Amino acid sequence: MTKRPSSLLVVGSVALDDLDGPQGIHPDVLGGSASYFATAASFFVPASVQLVAVVGNDFPQAHVDFFVSRGIDVAGLERQEGKTFRWSGRYSDDLTSRTSLDTQLGVFAGFRPRLSDHHRSAEFLFLGNIDPVLQMDVLEQVRRPRLVACDTMNFWISGKPEELKRTLARVDLLVINDEEARQLAGVHNLVQAVEIIRKLGPRGVVVKRGDSGALLFYEGGVFAAPAYPLEQVRDPTGAGDTFAGGLMGYLARCGEVTPATIRRAMIYGSVLASYCVEDFSLDRLKTLTLEDIASRFRAFYELTHFEHIAL
Ligand code: AMP
Repeated sequence: MTKRPSSLLVVGSVALDDLDGPQGIHPDVLGGSASYFATAASFFVPASVQLVAVVGNDFPQAHVDFFVSRGIDVAGLERQEGKTFRWSGRYSDDLTSRTSLDTQLGVFAGFRPRLSDHHRSAEFLFLGNIDPVLQMDVLEQVRRPRLVACDTMNFWISGKPEELKRTLARVDLLVINDEEARQLAGVHNLVQAVEIIRKLGPRGVVVKRGDSGALLFYEGGVFAAPAYPLEQVRDPTGAGDTFAGGLMGYLARCGEVTPATIRRAMIYGSVLASYCVEDFSLDRLKTLTLEDIASRFRAFYELTHFEHIAL
């Protein structure tokens, strides 16, 4: 019997990005944690992703139309007088590190999300990378979510540490990159860092490690998902949010979090992220099909499957 997909609400940034890297400058492209997340999740729960964010009057309507074309509910995407959140980043020549050149909060600075009655019933909640005060604001409005996951980054870990800890105390699953896990915990060793983070609240922690894949630490132990070996990487921006969107989208589709569903969700997250980095901004996600997803899911199986035979 197929289960009804659960509703999945995301709050996070919807942004205009200026990207600079070895493949040239790409100004003014669609970005933001919630944009990547919602688009990735929409492949798994096409009519059940709810986007809560704010944009300014400079935000092109074509981007909103794109979200709608993916079946994303944009009733919670407010448009306000002022400028859209803008982030500019520069990548190193080998694309393994990046520097945030500028972050302009714009209309996000005064944003107070007001969830509709419908959105308050969301079953799966993702607090995308944004001010932890806004994350908490949304968390307090949602009635009884079955799973609360959250992302954050250095900007907030150093900028609003106490607010972030208050949010983390109410989160089930933290999805964070390795450098930020170390920064948050204040220790270098990842396993120790995760232990410290789990004491702050989250039962599960997913550590994203760029082209080294992702690790899930949860009650059932540790699970590793590799990054797919790609011949061409153009733009790593949004890979983490896309990973989280694939992971949460698949869990919402299954409607339950079990050791089996969360392990498959880690692979679906990796599948979506592997496509995201093949082109700039959300361009590859715009042409992606369910067949592409199924074929790379099989490729991941081939990549990682081995028989357990005793010596
Ligand atoms: P990722 O590469 O997964 O870390 O996501 C990159 C996206 O995060 C970009 O499209 C940015 O617009 C967005 N972003 C960068 N800095 C911040 C921040 N401080 N708060 C919220 N979103 C951000």
